[in-house]
Amino acid sequence: MAYTVLARKYRSWTFDEIVGQDAVATTLRNAIASGRIHHGYLFTGTRGVGKTSMARILARSLNCLNREGPTADPCRTCESCVSIAEGQDVDVIEIDAASHTGVDNIRELRENANYRPARARYKIYIIDEVHMLSTGAFNALLKTLEEPPAHVKFILATTDPQKVPATIQSRCQRFDFRSIGPEQIGQQVRMILEAEGCTADDGVVRRVARLANGSMRDALSVLDQLMSISPKDLTTDLLEQVLPAPHDELLAELIDRWAEHDAAGALNALDRCIGQGYSLERFGETMIEQLRTLMLLAVCGADTELVDVPAQYRDAIVARAGKFDAAAYVHAIVVLEELRRNIRFTQAGRALADAVVVRLSEAVPQASIAKLLAQLEGGDPDALKKKVAPRPAPAPAPPRPQAAGHAPASKPAAPPTPPRATPRPQAPAPPPAPTRRANSDDMRAAMAEPLVKKAMDLFDGALVNVEKLAPKPPDTDAVEAPESDE
Ligand SMILES: [Zn+2]
Repeated sequence: MAYTVLARKYRSWTFDEIVGQDAVATTLRNAIASGRIHHGYLFTGTRGVGKTSMARILARSLNCLNREGPTADPCRTCESCVSIAEGQDVDVIEIDAASHTGVDNIRELRENANYRPARARYKIYIIDEVHMLSTGAFNALLKTLEEPPAHVKFILATTDPQKVPATIQSRCQRFDFRSIGPEQIGQQVRMILEAEGCTADDGVVRRVARLANGSMRDALSVLDQLMSISPKDLTTDLLEQVLPAPHDELLAELIDRWAEHDAAGALNALDRCIGQGYSLERFGETMIEQLRTLMLLAVCGADTELVDVPAQYRDAIVARAGKFDAAAYVHAIVVLEELRRNIRFTQAGRALADAVVVRLSEAVPQASIAKLLAQLEGGDPDALKKKVAPRPAPAPAPPRPQAAGHAPASKPAAPPTPPRATPRPQAPAPPPAPTRRANSDDMRAAMAEPLVKKAMDLFDGALVNVEKLAPKPPDTDAVEAPESDE
């Protein structure tokens, strides 16, 4: 017997069966019960959240032949119900706007709409991915939507409502479908496994639910894949073989190499990932997911419930999360997302991936900059966070303990230049009355300081005597400090 994919075998037949869209289901059910049926509906939401299933259930509710009129409880057996569920009904016409974008397609639709339905109450047009229609097609559709024949209903579905013209939207009742939570997906996966007589570890169900990313269809296709290998028992071992875990050690290794600026080590880790069967696209996706987890832990704290981390990995992951700060995560995620999108359109995917790995290895870890600056300014790292933007003119507090104000005989060293992107500081507030200006010996001494040297290396910068930027007292003997090369 031919294998039926799970998504089809366990399709939803009633409003109640659609997982995770209770609000939409309730509203539609009530509208049908009270006879307030609109002539146009717009269903929005990401892929795999039940838009098409809901559209077909609505169509069956309107057209079920075993009921007197529209019903919130259509049968599952009449010709209409069965053929609508298959997407093959004569009166319920499904159009994929992605492949029928032109004005001619919609003109044809308009002409056909004038004919009465063949056997049911309504002629129903389900237009999927409606945002793909051309402008001309939208205009043609608009005319029909404005004054449709009484026997015509439209159900438009889109993953991108921004691209649907306001004129179309305003003639439809809009329903926003939510992406489905991992718990709800997990429950449905359990239900299906039970019905299939298949046992599964808790970890497997959790992973499948998380991999689905809010899409029931994706969850079921992962399940299809697993059950094609082992139809009666899904173990964590099997899952690891088929879909290596996102907390995969190699990816963790890669992130650690980034933190240490070890580009060569990071490239080797990527190479081993690819060798293990990761496609480049999947590498990008998984990496983004991992970095997101780390970022949430770094931003929201170790106890956050926003991330789903198995208990046995939590400590290690929390420790890793502290290696970068929020800005570094944002940067890495943006760069990887760009990679993930570009990889599909290029023959040089591997080179792009390698380049990204090197780029992120060379990136200055923002967390360490913040700490270093805080040390340079003699403050605590948290104090720095509060004054990062806009950056005030650097207070001329020297890095050495002999602060100018307290030890008049000491040599005040100028602070280093700020990082590249920072605008040149304005004239600073007058320094706390040093008795004399820094000279070239002072500058050399300051530049020999290990911490200052390290900072200059990090920023690829130079040391500037900010005293020179202040109004010059007549007796100054300050040195020309080398300018940074910007
Ligand atoms: Zn029926």
